[in-house]
Amino acid sequence: MTWTYLNKEFLRREEVKISPFDRGFLFGDGVYEVIPVYEEKPFLLEDHLGRLGRSLNSTGIKNPQKWNDIPGIIHELVKKNTFSNQSVYVQVTRGEDSIRNHIPDPKVQPTLFITSSELKVNPYRLDPERKGLEVKTLEDPRWNRCDIKAVTLLSNIMAMNEANLEGKDGVIFCTNGEVTEGAASNVFAVFDNQVITTPESNQILSGITRKHVISLLNNKGIEVQERVLKLEDIYKAEEVWVTSSTQEIQPVTKIDGRELDIKKSYKDSLWHELLTSYFSLA
Ligand code: PMP
Repeated sequence: MTWTYLNKEFLRREEVKISPFDRGFLFGDGVYEVIPVYEEKPFLLEDHLGRLGRSLNSTGIKNPQKWNDIPGIIHELVKKNTFSNQSVYVQVTRGEDSIRNHIPDPKVQPTLFITSSELKVNPYRLDPERKGLEVKTLEDPRWNRCDIKAVTLLSNIMAMNEANLEGKDGVIFCTNGEVTEGAASNVFAVFDNQVITTPESNQILSGITRKHVISLLNNKGIEVQERVLKLEDIYKAEEVWVTSSTQEIQPVTKIDGRELDIKKSYKDSLWHELLTSYFSLA
């Protein structure tokens, strides 16, 4: 049995109902967070709720009534859904409006929906020797506020669907020959032992895992250069990784059909070292 939480109460998955007049349904007018939970403990929860607060603020969606109770609700939901590792989705839409209108009624109250599912173990933890991800690059078709974690994910869905139909594992978006981010991840590349990732801007989501990985690297005495990553260079990288809350760190070994010239075994790779020490700062 799967439990969810809607606005003020826990409901079974089969019971939960939201009006089609909810602006999340009509316009994709909402924001969300995905929080990984390990052994029933949410990982980097404060960072995730901080970003949710910023997404609400940027979009002018009100904080839900139960805003201060969200950590407690997550705790209870995780207990109810029993898996020891879970992905918790916290979604807030602008709420149910009386009529369809782009301009919201100021009286509209936000909808809070929280759900969770089992978080599968990162396959590169179970088998670090498995083949790296194969991705394709696509011109970034998204809007100019990718820093907001909006539920409006049509561009990401179309891109990932296209890659999946071609048997690829994912997508890296580029703008004018420069990498922005993955369709659901941030991108890192290593050249001559220097780690580079795209700088924070309106073109990317400021990933919680990105920040965590930068802290892990700094903790090992490795500086990360936050600068433009050229697509033509990334094909020549020593290592490429994608990072996200549900994927953690995963290596990429093929981009646009071109096999990267990876000389190191996984044991000497930085991505593997980072995965091994992933929880060392928590
Ligand atoms: N960029 C995009 C577009 C994403 O969807 C995600 C995953 N939510 C990320 C980056 C990584 O963010 P995080 O590390 O906070 O999961």
